[in-house]
Amino acid sequence: MTLFDKTLFDSPAFEAHESVQASFDAATGLKTIIAIHSTARGPGAGGCRMWPYSTASAALDDVLRLSRAMSYKNAMADIPLGGAKAVIVGDSRTDKTPALFEAFGRAVDQAGGRYWAAEDVGTSPADMVHARKSTRYVAGLDGHAAASGDPSPVTAEGVFRGIELSVKRALGRPLDGVTVAIQGVGHVGGFLAEKLHAAGAKLIVADVNTAAVQRLVATLGAEAVAPDAIFDVNAEVFAPCALGGAVTAQTLDRLSAKVIAGGANNQLASPDVGRTLHARGILYAPDYVINGGGIVNVAGEIRALEAGEAFDPAWVAGKLDRLMQTLDEVFDRAAAEGRPTHEVADEMARARIAGASGAAAAN
Ligand code: NAD
Repeated sequence: MTLFDKTLFDSPAFEAHESVQASFDAATGLKTIIAIHSTARGPGAGGCRMWPYSTASAALDDVLRLSRAMSYKNAMADIPLGGAKAVIVGDSRTDKTPALFEAFGRAVDQAGGRYWAAEDVGTSPADMVHARKSTRYVAGLDGHAAASGDPSPVTAEGVFRGIELSVKRALGRPLDGVTVAIQGVGHVGGFLAEKLHAAGAKLIVADVNTAAVQRLVATLGAEAVAPDAIFDVNAEVFAPCALGGAVTAQTLDRLSAKVIAGGANNQLASPDVGRTLHARGILYAPDYVINGGGIVNVAGEIRALEAGEAFDPAWVAGKLDRLMQTLDEVFDRAAAEGRPTHEVADEMARARIAGASGAAAAN
């Protein structure tokens, strides 16, 4: 069923969004949708994706799904931000102009501070520089005291610690000597590989970018396999760090890993896959919990911008510690209740958002 078979409000992706703003700018041709799922915990924050959506309903479905996911991620990261996201309809290779992003900035400004934009798939910090000419609600830029820089190393640090925790819980041992299969060694996967290597883990890596793989073979002694072969290797941990949907009913049958924990978003092709993982005794670290380090870093920037202060790495480090406690709590509850970790994480995220809404209503 597409969104417009019924109405926006009946869509499963809608799930009580606070607002959905569609903006069109005649001069630049900008078509953008800003979806704000929840501001109960603070202003909604999430990236701006530029994608050549074939229909308006595809763009709307995507932005609603992504915005809700940001609410859940930000709640689990325990940062004072709600969930929101923007999409720009267009081809990022051919349709970008400074004026288009200035117009996008005006659309962001119309949300009145209830949405903070940042880069995402198809947009870059350079694009956001133009957006920031029209609004102050843009994060992820370089060259000022509050700037947080590339979030990937912080994401990788959280994923590394999450893998360490998962291995301890599932296998009862430290990382030394454990084999980790990493799918995708770009920004996050590359930093993760270095951290795992330093902790004594053995690495098997795959990427469609052979240069990235060869670098890790040369520098870390990693074993390289073809992209599709990463599901068949003998490894205790599978770390998806490429695109979403790596764990499907089919790939799951090929994996030998006892732990699935990595940096990619939307690792499970469907909730059913999560239930199968659970039934097979594989420990899954919910993706939006373990990869929350990047948004924690961005939250550090927003916090500093709002206070007119310099970026504070100690605040980010404290939140990263807290994120690991939350992951541990997800594992504890899932074990105690005999339930899949992804279901427990969703439930905890919803409870944190509802708790903040209740607190706001009471004040
Ligand atoms: P990236 O583009 O730098 O790295 C992704 C890598 O995956 C690339 O090297 C690419 O060649 C490779 N890849 C693509 N398809 C592949 C395939 N079929 N098999 C093997 N490798 C493949 O992106 P990134 O910033 O490292 O992000 C990786 C994942 O982590 C994404 O899902 C992203 O949404 C998620 N994530 C990133 C951050 C962050 O801070 N960068 C934060 C949270 C989540």
